[in-house]
Amino acid sequence: MFNFDNSYARLPERFHAAVFPEPVEAPVLIKFNATLAQELRLQLDADDAPRLAAFFSGNVLPSGSEPLAMAYAGHQFGNFVPRLGDGRAILLGEVVDDKGVRRDIQLKGAGPTPYSRRGDGRAALGPVLREYIVSEAMAGLGIPATRALAAVATGEGVQRETVLPGAVFVRVAASHVRIGTFQYFAAQGDTEAVRTLADYVIDRHYPDLAQADNPYLALLDAVSMRQADLIARWLGAGFIHGVMNTDNMTVSGETIDFGPCAFLDDYDPMKVFSSIDQQGRYAYRNQPGIGQWNIARLAECLLPLLDGDEEKAVEAANGVLKAFGERFQAAWLSVFAKKIGIAGTPDPGDGDLIQALLSAMQEGRADFTLTFRRLSALAAADRSEVEAQVRLDAEAAFLEGFAPWDKAESFLPLWRARLARQEGDVSVLMRGVNPALIPRNHRIEDAITAAMAGDLSPFERLVAAVADPYTDQPEFAALTQAPRDEERVLRTFCGT
Ligand code: AMP
Ligand code: MG
Repeated sequence: MFNFDNSYARLPERFHAAVFPEPVEAPVLIKFNATLAQELRLQLDADDAPRLAAFFSGNVLPSGSEPLAMAYAGHQFGNFVPRLGDGRAILLGEVVDDKGVRRDIQLKGAGPTPYSRRGDGRAALGPVLREYIVSEAMAGLGIPATRALAAVATGEGVQRETVLPGAVFVRVAASHVRIGTFQYFAAQGDTEAVRTLADYVIDRHYPDLAQADNPYLALLDAVSMRQADLIARWLGAGFIHGVMNTDNMTVSGETIDFGPCAFLDDYDPMKVFSSIDQQGRYAYRNQPGIGQWNIARLAECLLPLLDGDEEKAVEAANGVLKAFGERFQAAWLSVFAKKIGIAGTPDPGDGDLIQALLSAMQEGRADFTLTFRRLSALAAADRSEVEAQVRLDAEAAFLEGFAPWDKAESFLPLWRARLARQEGDVSVLMRGVNPALIPRNHRIEDAITAAMAGDLSPFERLVAAVADPYTDQPEFAALTQAPRDEERVLRTFCGT
């Protein structure tokens, strides 16, 4: 059924705590991702909801599972906490998927663990549905992220500000090793454990690096490059993670922990949604800088492994941090150049052209997603064989998204001149990188509100829609629209 092979459980005892899920009263399956289950080669009957609910609530442990909570530390909003750990997540085990990739299957909200501190180890339905939707949206967008395998209602209430319906989320990850996992051991001066963890991560995520001259420096560099690329992808989708604490940053390069995350509606680079991010530390535009800061924290943990000579180790680490900045800039340019239809290697002036559009969007309060999608439509309409009226309509549709639109209007001739310097129809390329549909904040709220009242159909629709975001799906047209003012979500909550 589950062909578990639990490598993390074989690591030394101080890496984790064995803990069994705490059974719940009345598990009911909310959603099961049969496609992902197949990828994971799980032999499960998608029609046997009670059995799936029993497994994915933690009520029945599948054979071969060695449930555990992982130890980790982390910087939360810049403050170091030496002991966090899985306070409400329990790793069931690892399976090797159909591509030979080892993946974790984890229950989130399955009961207390030795790391729960004052928490109850549970999750509320709302955050579980949010994580389900956003995980699958990221997969649809092609942005590395943990996946949603299932969600189960527990039939129990969880006490938050009020009593809320409880649920368990089943998450699949390339691994759950975080920067905070390294910090946990480094803060205790346990260099041996840091080395064991680094070797584990190299073996699991970066096997080629074992042959490098300095595998640990190569590891730091590889994690750094993946994060730089990942954050560039986030910015390209208008994604704001919301809690980029070091315990929420994987070493695999997958996005993890969809708490108060949100996608931009109108473009505002300083946008913050999270209610707990008072200072705007994790604002849209701050994400690359924070990514680099987090990599610096990882570098500190690895210093003793980088070089016997501390000065040389610091110098090597600084080289990696500098490279992060350069890599991010290059990745950002590559992502946004494609978004405006530049097919080949970007020119030196392309950054300015992109900035011209972004500043028009900011001033004109233009919707991030719709602007790029409409620009893709305009590129298609601009082709010589298309009727003039179609082009005028597409241009009007694009400009209408801006108020005021004068900057957007001055951007267009510059953009057209740039595209005229390359061959071929770029509208297909543009459509493939500029989604028609993202899980809009107000739609996520709608889905959660309806689910709390017993109607799962908006959730189902949203999950179905986000799976194929680059295709125009007329049946989901309503989900592509920007919020009206009264629908706008201003704040998101982590809801833990
Ligand atoms: P997060 O904000 O979800 O990344 O969680 C930060 C830390 O708080 C992690 O160590 C979690 O395991 C822990 N935590 C969050 N919610 C709960 C909860 N309901 N019960 C126990 N621990 C929790
Ligand atoms: Mg977390």
